[in-house]
Amino acid sequence: MTRVVLLGPPGAGKGTQAARLAEALGVPAISTGDIFRANIAGGTELGRTAQGYTSRGALVPDEVTNAMVAARLDEPDVAGGFLLDGYPRNVAQVSELDAMLAQRGTSLDVAVELTADTEVVVQRLLHRATVEGREDDTEPVIRHRLDVYREQTEPIAALYATRGLLVRVDGLGDVPVVTQRLLAALREAA
Ligand code: ADP
Repeated sequence: MTRVVLLGPPGAGKGTQAARLAEALGVPAISTGDIFRANIAGGTELGRTAQGYTSRGALVPDEVTNAMVAARLDEPDVAGGFLLDGYPRNVAQVSELDAMLAQRGTSLDVAVELTADTEVVVQRLLHRATVEGREDDTEPVIRHRLDVYREQTEPIAALYATRGLLVRVDGLGDVPVVTQRLLAALREAA
């Protein structure tokens, strides 16, 4: 179980859990949101393109995101597996990821959905805004990101379920407790 996709609404704790899971599994965590933020901070052309979308909670165009992920999957540390956080995020990206992996002679092992109640995640993100100051953590943008998640990302959980690849894990609880739940779910899926 080393080729893993982590799904879940904004604020479910994907980033925190992705880092902990990746460490436990010995694979890199690849967060598209983090890569975009690093490019925005670094003032790259990719960053300038992305910021027009991320700042309002819209998805960055697929061709931009897909190319970025494909390049990341060619880096040597991905040879033994990966944990994708924030990708795929719509049905078209699912097909694109399938194609990318097929081209590299491999495929996905499991998709894990971290679930969390909407009002809980809004409160978590509003709190995070006061700590981290992320540009997209204002209430209207948070609500928009949640709408985008419901409309575009949630359907891909059903798609992975029909392939028998989906496991769901409750994202509410202390960080280490949720990590243990995730590791148990991955063991069970193996
Ligand atoms: P969150 O899950 O809290 O919304 P992320 O850090 O995963 O935050 O993503 C931040 C932003 O980066 C998204 O709102 C979106 O604009 C952009 N982004 C991240 N991943 C993708 C993706 N796979 N496709 C398109 N845009 C993306």
